[in-house]
Amino acid sequence: MNAFLNKQADGKVMVDKVFKAAVKAREAKLQYGDDAVVDATLGTLFDEEGTFVAFDSVWGVYEGIDKIQKAKYAASIQGNPRFREAVYNWLFGEIDEEIKCEILATPGGAGAISSTIKNILNPGETVIKPSQGWGPYKTMAKEYGVTLTDYNLFKDGCFDIEDFKSTLSNVMKLQGKVLVIINDPCHNPTGYTMSSDEWDQVISFVNNLSKEGPVVILNDIAYVDFNTAGSSWKQHFKKYKTLNENAMAIIAFSTSKTLTAYGARAGAAVCITKNDNELQKFINAGIYSARSIWSTVNNSAMELFADVTMIEENKTLYLKEKQKYVELIKDRANIFVTEANAVGLDIYPFREGFFVTVKIQDDSEKEALNLRLQEKNIFTVEVDGGLRIAICSVPKRKLIGLAQRIKDVL
Ligand code: PLP
Repeated sequence: MNAFLNKQADGKVMVDKVFKAAVKAREAKLQYGDDAVVDATLGTLFDEEGTFVAFDSVWGVYEGIDKIQKAKYAASIQGNPRFREAVYNWLFGEIDEEIKCEILATPGGAGAISSTIKNILNPGETVIKPSQGWGPYKTMAKEYGVTLTDYNLFKDGCFDIEDFKSTLSNVMKLQGKVLVIINDPCHNPTGYTMSSDEWDQVISFVNNLSKEGPVVILNDIAYVDFNTAGSSWKQHFKKYKTLNENAMAIIAFSTSKTLTAYGARAGAAVCITKNDNELQKFINAGIYSARSIWSTVNNSAMELFADVTMIEENKTLYLKEKQKYVELIKDRANIFVTEANAVGLDIYPFREGFFVTVKIQDDSEKEALNLRLQEKNIFTVEVDGGLRIAICSVPKRKLIGLAQRIKDVL
């Protein structure tokens, strides 16, 4: 008998490791009580009482949005003009130069990453991603028949620029074009943030490589607003102005973490290149893809972002509330990372952000080790090369002593 689904769709099954681990943690909490369980699975912010954080300074503003505005279609497939202006100001507002770009509203960062992969590469071509990375990069690539290859992320505790260079050069030789994902700052799952010098080396290499063919850097900044340097980190975007004609940067921005608005599904693909013709083609293709897949982005989520970030009084309250959680995560990280170092628990280089990852060299052992941790009521997520601890969702009191407990099991 013929299958109903086409060849590409037949057999597709989404296995969500985070969701699976979170369900197990929830069951353990029901059985043993909340205090007995360390649930480090979810990449969303929880406070010290274990309550999901939804910023008052955001959701209070949402209450004030008129019901007609919430019900209406968005004003444009590219994204409401006011939303696009807000995204520009949020990312580039403190930069003293104009950043020539095109902005496409997308359903979260996921929409920006997915549509970029789709429109940059042909099926059969290869996207380059970090050796440790967000799982859905693989799902998205496969969805478009695109294969993946990794650059090794770390060497001697820093960004492995040599492997980055050789991986990109090899792919350029094979397909005459490069699309590379860089998830920075606050990398998921390791919590690494590249230094300005490491970025300079990346940009300089990309400029050289672009003499051989087009190079696109896809900068996934999902956690940008939880970096400890605050908005000054965004000066980084100025570097994209130095890219050659044959290079392009696409920033995947998301309001999910920025506003604690994960379910609202708003974000943007922000394209920067000197090449006017390619810039126009990128936005044309993006709008076309939007219309064919998600149509328009959530109208009230776009209004919400504009209202929170462009109305001064709202912005002040929001920044104050958010900063409290940036500090909280920093405190949590200090506890876990300091103890990990003290007890000799091997973690990937950590700087800041929602996650820390314990290194498991032998990938085949990872599942068994994770099960043993689960027997001790410690729930983590298996990622490439390790087990991810979402410090964004674990209160400080549960992080104290956790590194030793994990070390004992491993
Ligand atoms: N990129 C990374 C590394 C993430 O961890 C996430 C969310 O977990 C995203 C992008 C996109 O999230 P969203 O589609 O909710 O904006």
